[in-house]
Amino acid sequence: MSDAVKVGFVPFSTAPRGVLVVFCDDTLKFGAATRKGLGTSADVVKRAAETNQFKGKSGSTLDILAPEGLKASRLIVVGAGKLSAIKDHDFLKLGGAAAGKLLGGNAVVTIMAELPDGAMKPDQAAAVASGVRLRAYKFDRYKTRKKDGEDAAVRAEVSLAVDDVAAARKAFAPRAHIVDGVIMARELVNEPPNVLYPVEFARRAAQLRKLGVDVEILDVKAMTKLGMGALLGVSQGSTQPGRTVIMRWNGGKKGEQPVAFVGKGVCFDTGGISIKGSAGMEDMKGDMGGAACVVGLMHALAARKARVNVVGAIGVVENMPDGNAQRPGDIVTSMSGQTIEIINTDAEGRLVLADVLWYVAKKFKPKFMVDLATLTGAIMVALGTEYAGMFSNNDELAERLTRVGLETGERVWRMPLGPEYDKQIDSQFADVKNAGVRNGGSITAAQFLQRFVDDTPWAHLDIAGTAMGAPKSEINHSWGSGYGVRLLERLVAEYYEGKK
Ligand code: MN
Ligand code: ZN
Repeated sequence: MSDAVKVGFVPFSTAPRGVLVVFCDDTLKFGAATRKGLGTSADVVKRAAETNQFKGKSGSTLDILAPEGLKASRLIVVGAGKLSAIKDHDFLKLGGAAAGKLLGGNAVVTIMAELPDGAMKPDQAAAVASGVRLRAYKFDRYKTRKKDGEDAAVRAEVSLAVDDVAAARKAFAPRAHIVDGVIMARELVNEPPNVLYPVEFARRAAQLRKLGVDVEILDVKAMTKLGMGALLGVSQGSTQPGRTVIMRWNGGKKGEQPVAFVGKGVCFDTGGISIKGSAGMEDMKGDMGGAACVVGLMHALAARKARVNVVGAIGVVENMPDGNAQRPGDIVTSMSGQTIEIINTDAEGRLVLADVLWYVAKKFKPKFMVDLATLTGAIMVALGTEYAGMFSNNDELAERLTRVGLETGERVWRMPLGPEYDKQIDSQFADVKNAGVRNGGSITAAQFLQRFVDDTPWAHLDIAGTAMGAPKSEINHSWGSGYGVRLLERLVAEYYEGKK
């Protein structure tokens, strides 16, 4: 992967090298191994805490340069807050908080994976390690003149001091693949649209073959033959041909019904003939965040050899205004046979998904389909950037997504569907139209998708607010967040791999 942080594990007894990171609670207590490591410098910490009004609040840090009595060049104390209130997800944040202090240049780092009440469990230490890598990631490929400090990526060699090295390594191995998947998704979202056009996107997805993923790429001819008129209508205005990519990981029992993930991959969305305003249009390079998540997720699942059959499917196109672009008023025929009146060519994501969802539902008959799409601005009006909007025809799937959302911190909020909304997209001239009125825009978008899933259990995640340009967090400072990879990986691990 493109981040430059190497993580390893050592026993507590190893002498710390370089920067030393330790954790305390909200009473400034340390664990036994940490106290031993700090020796006489515990006093320095106490005084520094007083001067800096450091109270050990969760995620807060105290930074001491060249601490007296320690070989370490720097001591970073990270607050873990009230011990009884710590949740699993907080360990990621603790790693992120530590990495946040390292920004810029090379570093050798030792992190004492211990809380005041004892050594962190292997899972917790592994989560800290994941948090370090997630927070340290930076997309700087195109900066040829790096300023000192702020612009330099972290190049760190991080050792986590733990109680049981073998157990920590074992816990981290699958998580490292999940982090790789998140970073892969971030990379795809961050890449500029002249670099990441549909054919190139498909080529990158095809690299999953190295992990044993079966990758099939449908070109324009193949999609025409299948009758994917909705997707092709969007893509016809661009000189860049569209693609549908089908990725299959068969880690489960032979013949077992797969689970399926579908992503919107509009590599650039101008709006088409219903062209967008120019302010902020550059952000529309991220309109493929759903597809990026599906590729990152497939990476994570295949690399950790998930015991499940999975289909990942993405429709990758560019939405451009052109002499050959589709017009408002056009009527296209989708693969399902349903005709669609184009009201607004900027409501293109649902047209792409209509054909890919139908294809996946019919061809693979999955246990469920979850689609992800940067679909509507309206979802940001409703939920801001903290939650993705979730729409579902299946309560069990919706409840599971809600639960893993809380566990991973990639939260979803369920929104309504219903016949009152559905009738708003009945068309005067065709079976359905691709846009309703302004009010409830995220809901009518979801109603449109539902007409193309048949009775497959399905959930749609509108990630327009969470996939890109979301506020920086403890574990993400990248514009492309990689949202959804950890969420859906957890969904698979908890409910579809037969572990629990
Ligand atoms: Mn659009
Ligand atoms: Zn779009």
